[in-house]
Amino acid sequence: MKPILFNFTDSELENYIVQMGQPKFRARQLREWLMRGAPNFSVMKNIPETLRNDLDAVAQTLPTKIIKKLESSDGETTKFLLELPDGEQIESVLMRTTYGNSVCVSSQAGCAMGCKFCASTLLGLKRNLSSNEILSQVLTAQWELRSARNSASNIRPNGDANNGDVSHIVIMGTGEPLQNTENVIDFIERANSTLGISWRRITLSTCGIVDGIDRLIEWGRPINLAISLHAPTDELRSQIMPINNRYCLSDVLSAAWRFTDLHNRQLMIEYILLGRKDENGETYLYNATPEYAEKLSELLSGKNCMVNLIPWNTVDERDFASLSGNAVHRFQDILIKNGIHTRIRRERGTDIGSACGQLRLNNAK
Ligand code: SAH
Repeated sequence: MKPILFNFTDSELENYIVQMGQPKFRARQLREWLMRGAPNFSVMKNIPETLRNDLDAVAQTLPTKIIKKLESSDGETTKFLLELPDGEQIESVLMRTTYGNSVCVSSQAGCAMGCKFCASTLLGLKRNLSSNEILSQVLTAQWELRSARNSASNIRPNGDANNGDVSHIVIMGTGEPLQNTENVIDFIERANSTLGISWRRITLSTCGIVDGIDRLIEWGRPINLAISLHAPTDELRSQIMPINNRYCLSDVLSAAWRFTDLHNRQLMIEYILLGRKDENGETYLYNATPEYAEKLSELLSGKNCMVNLIPWNTVDERDFASLSGNAVHRFQDILIKNGIHTRIRRERGTDIGSACGQLRLNNAK
């Protein structure tokens, strides 16, 4: 396997370059390219071509290699299928929005959580990602943004309100970040220190691992926390999220309130609206009944939070049905009536299989 230069420390990189008979400053140049997300050596124009060719023969730039790149039809969402050095594949998504450019990163290859509505967990957990592998997903998106900007043919019709770099990170791709807490923390520290992305523009989404939330509290950085709640009672939640048998709702929420109180932040609650089909093929409400909307309101009443209502994206292998816009709005109206902040998440990239829960190993089917 070719060594991955991005994984080298500065002194390792310098030694490597010196051993190739090159001056030390080439290592600095290389590092700059690596931190910009250079996918290969041929783009490194300030490095002599012979050295670029030599490097190309013996080394690799990043720990993630683009296998496939899919663009949504509106040009706002790009999904990357990436290969890791051991052949595992992961996915990450770049979303261009009016408030900036957001990257959704995976924290694990596969997932062990077994949530009944999600596609990412269908093949189980393969392994944790290193912080380099998570950071590399952001750099890949950054490179994409910059190269689109530099090529006139790529200017999008709707004017590119944001021409900038990656401004937001959501750790909401495949995997449970709080099962890989130390690498995720290291990744966030580096996204902040090397890419200048502020804590408040980073959101970590968890299915509710209380020990992990406590670790984030101890760590002390004021990032945003999102809890995948999806049900307002233990009975219902345990049916769709096995993790609820380990950490019950009230424990998850009290850990989450400890976190948000500490940082004076709003807690994000994610709630997928799920339907089911009866024997006649008619869709009925599953976790989206008016009663559950009332129960959810009670649970969150008086708390500083925002409920993101997520229309369920179809996953063929999963036994749920998506609901009409009306059903979603009826659920939302009850929350609003009860004074709960709420919005409906706009789904991006459904046409390229990159909306929530649709990320999967591409070769799975
Ligand atoms: N393990 C973490 C992060 C990954 S899931 C977590 O559970 O939060 C990111 C979000 O997508 C979660 O809220 C998850 O519940 C949601 N999601 C999963 N499958 C979905 C689907 N089919 N449609 C819509 N959202 C889904």
